[in-house]
Amino acid sequence: KKWVYAFVPGKAEGSASMAELLGGKGANLAEMASLDLPVPPGFTITTEVCEAFFAADHKLPEALKGEVMQALEAIGNTVSAKFGDEKRPLLVSVRSGSRASMPGMMDTILNLGLNDKTVEGLAELTGDARFAFDSYRRFIQMYGDVVLGVDHGAFEDILENFKNLNGFAADTDLDAEAWHEIIADYKAAIEREHGAPFPQDTSEQLWGAIAAVFDSWHNPRAETYRRLHDIPDAWGTAVTVQAMVFGNLGDNSATGVAFTRNPSTGEKEIFGEYLPNAQGEDVVAGIRTPHALTKKSTGETSEASLEVAMPEVFTELRKIFDRLERHYRDMQDVEFTVQLGKLWILQTRSGKRTTEAALKVAVDLAAEGLISQDEAILRIEPSQLDQLLHPAIDPVAEHDLIAKGLPASPGAASGEIVFHSEMAEALKAKGREVILVRSETSPEDVHGMHAAVGILTARGGMTSHAAVVARGMGRPCVSGAGTLRIDANAGIMRAGARTFKSGDIVSIDGSTGRVYAGKAKMLPPQLSGTFATIMEWADATRRMKVRTNADTPRDARQARSFGAEGIGLCRTEHMFFEEKRILAVREMICAEDEEGRQQALDKLLPVQRADFEELFEIMAGLPVTIRLLDPPLHEFLPHEDREAAQVAAALGMDLMRLKARVAELEEFNPMLGFRGCRLGIKFPEITRMQTRAIFEAAVNARKKTGEAIRPEVMIPFIAYRREFDILREVIAETAKAVERESGIAIPYDIGTMIELPRAALRAADIAAGPLGADFFSFGTNDMTQTVLGLSRDDAAPILSNYLEHEVIAIDPFVSIDQAGVGELVKIGVERGRSAKPNLKTGICGEHGGDPRSIGFFETVDLDYISCSPYRVPIARLSAAQAAI
Ligand code: ADP
Ligand code: MG
Ligand code: MG
Repeated sequence: KKWVYAFVPGKAEGSASMAELLGGKGANLAEMASLDLPVPPGFTITTEVCEAFFAADHKLPEALKGEVMQALEAIGNTVSAKFGDEKRPLLVSVRSGSRASMPGMMDTILNLGLNDKTVEGLAELTGDARFAFDSYRRFIQMYGDVVLGVDHGAFEDILENFKNLNGFAADTDLDAEAWHEIIADYKAAIEREHGAPFPQDTSEQLWGAIAAVFDSWHNPRAETYRRLHDIPDAWGTAVTVQAMVFGNLGDNSATGVAFTRNPSTGEKEIFGEYLPNAQGEDVVAGIRTPHALTKKSTGETSEASLEVAMPEVFTELRKIFDRLERHYRDMQDVEFTVQLGKLWILQTRSGKRTTEAALKVAVDLAAEGLISQDEAILRIEPSQLDQLLHPAIDPVAEHDLIAKGLPASPGAASGEIVFHSEMAEALKAKGREVILVRSETSPEDVHGMHAAVGILTARGGMTSHAAVVARGMGRPCVSGAGTLRIDANAGIMRAGARTFKSGDIVSIDGSTGRVYAGKAKMLPPQLSGTFATIMEWADATRRMKVRTNADTPRDARQARSFGAEGIGLCRTEHMFFEEKRILAVREMICAEDEEGRQQALDKLLPVQRADFEELFEIMAGLPVTIRLLDPPLHEFLPHEDREAAQVAAALGMDLMRLKARVAELEEFNPMLGFRGCRLGIKFPEITRMQTRAIFEAAVNARKKTGEAIRPEVMIPFIAYRREFDILREVIAETAKAVERESGIAIPYDIGTMIELPRAALRAADIAAGPLGADFFSFGTNDMTQTVLGLSRDDAAPILSNYLEHEVIAIDPFVSIDQAGVGELVKIGVERGRSAKPNLKTGICGEHGGDPRSIGFFETVDLDYISCSPYRVPIARLSAAQAAI
């Protein structure tokens, strides 16, 4: 096995495509060397060595020694120096670098190869003793900290004391003599704390450093970073050993970092900082204030800028940036060092950027001809768009992290903790901003969720009630933050050892799932012109239509503004939860006979009609799919005494009898109980009322807007063709009645949800003939439950166990189980179309807003996807990416 890959300008054994083996840093150094860019020579020890190292209980493979020593000698030959040589010592850096960039999380050691002898050689060779001893003390400090585990504070204290005692202000003021004294103190500190002297043997230094860099893969910082960014522990890091170049050789030397474009705005301007007479991390460490690279940055003119101070270097840097951008066809993040006026490039990678910058860079690169329009579309991570549509937590500010849950609904919010929905409403009415904190939420919390600026739950998954509703409302939500202990009655929330009370301020980031104490710094939502451009390109590219799941006029308007092309799912029952309506709904359910039910339905008719009318108006002729009543009735039952008493009074019923009726309606497993089409088949008057509301609304909207309105009435939870036929007849009769009364014929379609396996299998039967279903809408939420036999309300702990055991790779409620549930969707589409070629097909489950699932829906040729309003732009972009 080959453990080591060498690079020198003009020639490299590795390349940019080998990041898995060489880490991003090593791979790109090799690539730049191949491009003949000024890269100090070096070699990279592969991630396989890291793997072997951990497998062998922190022992490096035997064969590595020879390969490393040989590669080291080759470096020495190109720079005419020799590792450990007292006259011409070769110094190297030992750098970490994993497949995914983990900036600053692991360790890097500079100036390795210095000891009491070689430092004299270096001083002689460069004629600069200050520089040589400055480099030596830096090395001892880094080595002491990273390899020997001596707290870096110890070194900082020594330096600080020395400067105070001797009246030095800046590090750069210290001369060789001064560094000499400090080095003695550093060494003493190491001997004291580590129990052994600082190693003078340069080989021992090298192997110590290599092992320490591998070990830094498991330092707590890196582990946390990986957990938060879903980077597998198994990847490991590579180690790059590279000849040093020196930015601390006086004022003609410098070190800096740069983005080839502005990473916050995407503007095409060099963006970065540098420090003269400095090394490595001085720029980021903030020991001295760095200078801008360009003369004109943020409106100021800086004489200290690299552009003014080192004009030739600046010109060359700019040329190299150009070259790198052309080569990588993307914005780059570059680290460089200037040694005695000569420029060296030490790292390049594709630069991290805000969503706004990502959009601008993609559009600009396309305009510059570096990438195609299709590539520009593919460059944007669809889920990133969330950041634009909601305020975001400032990623650079410091925050007090207290828990992490699921990123259930994007956006960020800060507010007072409240534990009850009523309280949330009451405080909102007073103009306060609250975060609703619950163990879990139920449909009854909808008003509280609405009143809150954000929702935090300790239980529940990505499709838990709280998550779905929050996304629909565009409220940020973190769900399933399992480490939180919530005691609503006591009014406290515990996060580890800390306790929070009602009224305490917390911030949640629904895009990352993080929860912070206190008020986090926010950035406002921004929809730039480049957003519109990318969306336009996406719309021109995609095949599938994008509709929205909208239950209220507010949702519908929001979705339209995000480009929705109709409503794919209006859940009528979501209109029922409002204070004034819920009583009538309860009357309807609890009524003991048809007469009582009809009275309640008569109260509901006008409100439903008004809702639908508004939806039709907002959608102005775009398709609107309205689903008939679907949920188990028990969700609406009056459980509290006060509610029961209200309903009993309204129905003129004895309270005890009402309670008996409620008990009768309780089910063991309501999700598989009396719901969906089963309701309408037993109580056709409910279907009649809803149909009447739909068609009367259509008539009114048509009169008002003049638009041709064609409602799509959807029957939920079908398993048998006969179920469909029974309800189709009720709908058709009612539509006819409205036509007779109004004199206006409204064309319509009647279709069905496909959410039970039997319906997918019998799709041909269900769609057959002129009276068969006109459209299918795959309800992949219920379908996932019914195909997997897994209740989504109970799924969270099971799924997390399954993820751990690799039974599944991703939560099937978040991203569709393509092989199982997806296969049934495919069968449903094929069989349905075999019976009815012009059958309309769509999807309205939560998967309609998931980029991966959307990629799958493209392959099964659905006509449209429908998702919650705030996911519409994501769906438009994902659908375009799927079509490319
Ligand atoms: P990180 O991953 O934390 O950025 P790096 O390995 O990139 O760590 O090293 C940090 C800094 O150290 C670099 O930006 C560069 O300034 C300096 N450095 C690393 N290797 C060398 C080298 N061979 N010569 C000069 N400076 C170096
Ligand atoms: Mg770096
Ligand atoms: Mg359903």
